[in-house]
Amino acid sequence: MIDDLYAEGYAVEAFTQWTIDVLEPHGFTAANTLPLVGVCRDELMFPVEQAVNDAWGLSFDMSSLGGMIFLGRSGLAAASHHSPGEDGRHRYLCIVLPHIGLEHTMGVGYVRREGQAEPSSACGALIALLGELRAGVRNHELDHGDLEMSLLRMTLLPLIGAEVADLATLTEIARRASTDELLRLVVSLRDSPHSDVAVVSGMVIHGPDGDRVAVSEAWVSVGSGDQVSLI
Ligand SMILES: [Zn+2]
Repeated sequence: MIDDLYAEGYAVEAFTQWTIDVLEPHGFTAANTLPLVGVCRDELMFPVEQAVNDAWGLSFDMSSLGGMIFLGRSGLAAASHHSPGEDGRHRYLCIVLPHIGLEHTMGVGYVRREGQAEPSSACGALIALLGELRAGVRNHELDHGDLEMSLLRMTLLPLIGAEVADLATLTEIARRASTDELLRLVVSLRDSPHSDVAVVSGMVIHGPDGDRVAVSEAWVSVGSGDQVSLI
């Protein structure tokens, strides 16, 4: 599954160019759009964030461990006060991208980081959860000393069946959960007839030929209009 997604995915610059190409006809430009980006905190994701910043201007950061979206109503309300609006419209491009390693010898879940002799794991937070599942541990408690990881567990565990998922499946579950949370939050933006909202959701795969972005869902809604698919 991850190999196929990787083969079909966009290189990072091609991904941001694609977002420009599909959103320009709907009136979105770098000058009039606020990008909101939700990725994992891992430094491996910084080049992707940087590419979005280069294409769309500085982004509002929704990121948490695992690419989960935990900024809540208050976080989104803050972002809503930052959008340009010179032409009377407020445009938001929301991008959600969990990530996964695909190292050429070790395979899914591994990545070769600069300065390290051996491959390490990605996404570490999701691999940690997978380890707990395989050990039969399902901890649903909020840990104030480990907020993001415990919130990640609390969000994902109800979505994981009795069978222990593999990492690719778990990453897809995380992507859907993050996207669902984003959709719940952007309802408040879409309620305004002056807001245009685009959502792009996918997975970043750190593969043997560099990072690629596999887009799973993408749509735009202009004003009170229906969602228009971008893929
Ligand atoms: Zn990660």
